[in-house]
Amino acid sequence: MDETTGTVTGTGADTGGESEARRTLHRVFGYESFRGEQGAIIEHVVAGGDAVVLMPTGGGKSLCYQIPSLVRRGTGVVVSPLIALMQDQVDALRALGVRAGFMNSTQDFDERRSMEAQFLAGELDILYLAPERLRLDSTLSLLARGEVSVFAIDEAHCVAQWGHDFRPDYLALSVLGERWPDVPRIALTATATNTTHEEITRRLGMPDAKHFVASFDRPNIQYRIVPKTEPKKQLLSFLKEEHAGDAGIVYCLSRNSTEKIAEYLSRNGVEAVPYHAGLDASTRAAHQARFLRVEGLVVVATIAFGMGIDKPDVRFVAHVDLPKSVEGYYQETGRAGRDGEPSTAWMAYGLQDVVQQRKLIQGGEGDEAFRRRAASHLDSMLALCETVQCRRAQLLTYFGQEPTAPACGNCDTCLTPPETWDGTIVAQKLLSTVVRLKRERNQKFGAGQIIDILLGRKTAKVIQFDHDQLSVFGIGEELAEAEWRGVVRQLLAQGLLAVEGEYGTLVLTDESATVLGRERDVLLRKEPKRPTSRSSSSSSGGGRGAKAKAAPADLPESAVPVFEALRAWRGAQAKEQGVPAYVIFHDATLREIATVHPTTIGELGGISGLGEKKLATYGEGVLEVLAETSPGAAPEAPAAPSPAPRTAPARAAAPQHSDPEFGWDEEPPEYE
Ligand code: ADP
Ligand code: ZN
Repeated sequence: MDETTGTVTGTGADTGGESEARRTLHRVFGYESFRGEQGAIIEHVVAGGDAVVLMPTGGGKSLCYQIPSLVRRGTGVVVSPLIALMQDQVDALRALGVRAGFMNSTQDFDERRSMEAQFLAGELDILYLAPERLRLDSTLSLLARGEVSVFAIDEAHCVAQWGHDFRPDYLALSVLGERWPDVPRIALTATATNTTHEEITRRLGMPDAKHFVASFDRPNIQYRIVPKTEPKKQLLSFLKEEHAGDAGIVYCLSRNSTEKIAEYLSRNGVEAVPYHAGLDASTRAAHQARFLRVEGLVVVATIAFGMGIDKPDVRFVAHVDLPKSVEGYYQETGRAGRDGEPSTAWMAYGLQDVVQQRKLIQGGEGDEAFRRRAASHLDSMLALCETVQCRRAQLLTYFGQEPTAPACGNCDTCLTPPETWDGTIVAQKLLSTVVRLKRERNQKFGAGQIIDILLGRKTAKVIQFDHDQLSVFGIGEELAEAEWRGVVRQLLAQGLLAVEGEYGTLVLTDESATVLGRERDVLLRKEPKRPTSRSSSSSSGGGRGAKAKAAPADLPESAVPVFEALRAWRGAQAKEQGVPAYVIFHDATLREIATVHPTTIGELGGISGLGEKKLATYGEGVLEVLAETSPGAAPEAPAAPSPAPRTAPARAAAPQHSDPEFGWDEEPPEYE
């Protein structure tokens, strides 16, 4: 495909894989060295071995199949469920001089035919296919007529029937091993649990595969979970104070909320679009494309959004509803900061989340085993929310990995260790209220009524049920309502209390007796005084420190205008070619260029992320920008459009709707 730089495809030399692989890493991708286990994985696959690879998002999975595809003879076939992203993936590879293509339902007959012809003629290094296309007889026989170097099965957890990304078409992929026993297969996923791992191996029929499990730590992501009071307002101030102008994803459970929140953010000066399965395909595609191409857009989405989005500079992922499992949470938050730069995973969570999720599990489809499993997933999620330990340590332990340190220093509990207090007595008060209602009246109530009783409030409902006559009425006035909610949440998380039924009534668990019988103490975490997100005052420590690193502020001051000029130049290039800016160069590459300020093509070639093809295509252009912005250059009138200052847009005067935690959204969450 490329006469000027020659093709980058391998020579077919299967020997000396490691060094050939390394050469390809330098020449095509412009990277200095392999990351983590990449080298070992690539070497193994180049030599013809099967591999199952578990690596967190941003870990560098793509190279693990792209390099073997280039080094081995034939075409690497990549199975990916993400049709909407194939074009971008292929664009990014072509920008590196790799002969890449895809075949999917978005193409017309001629395009597909041309792709087939290129494959058969051995003119493709990498071919992307959706699983539903791959399983067709016509596709399998096409592949049999050409030469396949390696099969890569991306997002391999889609084969797991318990997972929320299950794709039945993935089950048919076991045929690959049967039909092409000599072609190595590599299955990759960012989903980490052992059961998923085992299921991938079994269902894809890869018993002899070598397993590579990378560390799942994402040190550049700061984890924070705050109590939910007024979610929209909390979200807005989080975005304005810490991520003004940044691209990010906000997850919520219902379609309705995505629309309402996107509208609210836009009205308040944060450009945001909704994304959910109920939108028509073209709107969804348009919003996704905008997210990839426009800098600083916020997408408010259900879980339908994000898988495989390889936008490297997503600076935050926010959850305004509780995710259903730690797996889901980790996968979603993992979409932040693939470029390794500081990013935030922020979540607001409240009692209502727990009640709603329990209700869904109990009233939902599925057999008893399914419900039990869903409930235990939820329990783990709650335990993460209520922990007083390092969140990162807890996450890694959950995934069966050893945390590098007991405290990471980059999560909210490490940055501002929560105070704990002895909540045994208040727990007893709450539990005995539940007991009394049950024993004396045979009644069950939700948290709201129980708290009203404890606080001695004579509400209409309290009067109606004569609850002011209970001996426990008013025994809990030492805590405020929000604190009582916190107590309920924590007791739920600790399994000392349970929620059941359509109305989310509170009931005791087997463990509750140990508290009532004074056999154990209950340790609770103190509710933060300020329920909103971290204030912007520097004295609040933590969160702000990380932000300082995120801005281009870590550039030497003299390099900042150069960086901005390069960014403007990159924007123009991207626009001209109709590709996302990161396909041209990542921020990190621009930063390094701005800092090093190379003056020759040779020097430029030493920058990470500049391979042969990019050097040939953009080298001169970059040097021109550098010449114009070099410290000695005559100060021109605004040479490059000066960057929009990263300050928050003026606050719109629109009335601030506050959604109390309860009644936040009546619509059922979206499961897809
Ligand atoms: P994953 O698919 O595991 O989420 P990617 O393959 O998209 O991750 O890689 C994440 C980022 O890291 C990409 O921007 C990629 O270019 C970069 N990257 C991967 N491997 C290396 C490496 N060896 N050296 C430098 N950058 C790398
Ligand atoms: Zn920590």
